[in-house]
Amino acid sequence: MKKTKKPWTAHILTLFPEMFPGPLSFSIIGKALKEKIWSINLINIQNFSKKGPKYVDDKPYGGGSGMIIKSEVVHEALKKTIKKIKTDYSIVYLTPKGKKLDQRRVKKFTKKKNIILVCGKYEGIDQRVIDAWKMEEISIGDYVLSGGEIAAMNLIDSCVRLLPNTLGSSKSLDSETFQNNLLEYPQYTKPRNWLGKRVPEVLLSGNHKKIKEWKEKESIKITRIKRPDLLKKVEKR
Ligand code: SAM
Repeated sequence: MKKTKKPWTAHILTLFPEMFPGPLSFSIIGKALKEKIWSINLINIQNFSKKGPKYVDDKPYGGGSGMIIKSEVVHEALKKTIKKIKTDYSIVYLTPKGKKLDQRRVKKFTKKKNIILVCGKYEGIDQRVIDAWKMEEISIGDYVLSGGEIAAMNLIDSCVRLLPNTLGSSKSLDSETFQNNLLEYPQYTKPRNWLGKRVPEVLLSGNHKKIKEWKEKESIKITRIKRPDLLKKVEKR
């Protein structure tokens, strides 16, 4: 019998499993889910509370507002998840205190077959379980969401589009924004003339060499204007 290869899998520890796959079931990412290019494993943290589903959080020591998810429930949920996976995984805690997610980190997360995403809620998770499992703390930006689920979806989407066979052509990734620390050149489609604004003539020329040169030049130009910090990284190389 032919052995089927296991797809890249996102294991999501959450208090709200019903939020998934949600937006991840649409378009390219949803198609990839149906085609088993990736899969999702939902773990409801509530099922790991010995006292019952309502006892997953408690007040913070030292005072302060809100509730903190208890170490023991996250710990038990992780133990069970990892028992199944065994090997080849990263554990990520989504938190505004983490390192910022960027394309380099996204690529890195696709290299392992499994990613375990721990979603916080309320005021977050007890620090001891984050430290005990050496979770990689990842933020999707300098703003605070009410829970890690939307951040997890964000991370999954950015990973799945990099998996082989998700996109019709992997060539579309070659010149994409952040590839080689550059922003993508401007793109145009029909009509050639829209409200008096014309598509750059070179793109209609059929001269592939000139088109390539134009794209490279525009890419550098737009990066210099919008994200000079990225160009500095190119110069350093
Ligand atoms: N008390 C926390 C603080 O000040 O750092 C914020 C907790 S936030 C209201 C609740 C949960 O949302 C967090 O535990 C985390 O899982 C998620 N979250 C919020 N903002 C995030 C961000 N920028 N990136 C990733 N996850 C985020």
